[in-house]
Amino acid sequence: MAVAGGSIAGLCAGNALLSAGFDVHVFERSAHRLSSRGAGIVVQPELLGLIAAVDAQPLATTGCSVRRTDVASTGQTETMRMPQRFTSWEAIYTSLRSHFPDDRYHSGHDLTLEAQSAAGVSIAVDDDRIDAGLLIAADGIRSRFRAALAPDTLTRYAGYVAWRGVVDEADLDPELVDRFDDTFSFCQTRGGGHALCYFIPGSGLATERGERRLNWVWYIPADEGPALDALMTDRSGQRRDASVPQGEISDQARDFLFARTGTLTQAFAKLVEATPDPFIQSIIDVAPPGMVFGRVCLIGDAAFVVRPHTAAAAAKAAANSMALARALRGADGDFDRGLSAWESQQTAVGRQLLDYGVMLGERSQKPSERQEANR
Ligand SMILES: Cc1cc2nc3c(=O)[nH]c(=O)nc-3n(C[C@H](O)[C@H](O)[C@H](O)COP(=O)(O)OP(=O)(O)OC[C@H]3O[C@@H](n4cnc5c(N)ncnc54)[C@H](O)[C@@H]3O)c2cc1C
Repeated sequence: MAVAGGSIAGLCAGNALLSAGFDVHVFERSAHRLSSRGAGIVVQPELLGLIAAVDAQPLATTGCSVRRTDVASTGQTETMRMPQRFTSWEAIYTSLRSHFPDDRYHSGHDLTLEAQSAAGVSIAVDDDRIDAGLLIAADGIRSRFRAALAPDTLTRYAGYVAWRGVVDEADLDPELVDRFDDTFSFCQTRGGGHALCYFIPGSGLATERGERRLNWVWYIPADEGPALDALMTDRSGQRRDASVPQGEISDQARDFLFARTGTLTQAFAKLVEATPDPFIQSIIDVAPPGMVFGRVCLIGDAAFVVRPHTAAAAAKAAANSMALARALRGADGDFDRGLSAWESQQTAVGRQLLDYGVMLGERSQKPSERQEANR
């Protein structure tokens, strides 16, 4: 079996399938070790379940016991006890990659589907060709395999972007650290929308106080067209598609962000202003009509892309992978039977998560009644 993409979903699939006894190789287009992308991730049981099931290195996590919401326009604060664990893209990658054998992980190889038959697929790997019984496409939000096999996939911009940032705790005002410590903090911004922040493991995956990082996300509307284009055009003038990474934000986009910090609470404004390298991800809904196309299956963001409010995308990649390994093992060599059962179950899960994310997004982007009343 071949997996295209060696990020979170590809490594979830590689580990789950290897642990179920399959001969699996992961091919990652990037030639270098993938580095910290996506910043903070809320820990969900599906991911912990996969890590435990394959016996990978335990995930580095931070935690909180309280959820706190501050309303910028009124100064009101609500708190509730709600313990939660947080991690980072880097921590998940480290745990899954260090467990997956080096001789099965091939960096710097770009996969393309050449042909498929009832028995399997023929894949172009750079200038070479390999045959496999199954190709697992884990090639992310702009999946080449999804584009080729499911051209009628729904792809819809949600009307807002997520600004994101990560700051070393040591670089923050200690008062700000105390303010956010032990909380999953939300800020309802003046005029609608919200921001949130939580601590994640720091350099070297350190989780001790003083060594963590504070991760924030701030959802801001941007109309499709010139407004979105201006944000998504990087400092070299290139219009990015799904995200503008750290270090690539244009001065104009940065000014746009900092001009709005007055809509946040003071604490959130200080946090955003202290961030050296904010970055942007546009919020996009993606729903393919299915997840299996002959002997190619889509997993992770290559299949459904759900809104980050669900905090479930990495968990979905883990659930897709564990279910795939179970379905194929249970099908006793009859891949088609296993894939068919897997597809109907996982497509339903993907659709449900997509709808849930749309509902959460629409609700959170609307000005609250309280905010309307205080305008
Ligand atoms: C604002 C925001 C907040 C988020 N918060 C959370 C959260 O709290 N919890 C959560 O679970 N998720 C969260 N996510 C989503 C999460 O980051 C992604 O779902 C997850 O990283 C997707 O992993 P993936 O492996 O499917 O795709 P990707 O990480 O995009 O990986 C795809 C890989 O495939 C490789 N590739 C592409 N084409 C080829 C090819 N032809 N051949 C070989 N390799 C190829 C690429 O180089 C890349 O490494 C958030 C996302 C956003 C935008």
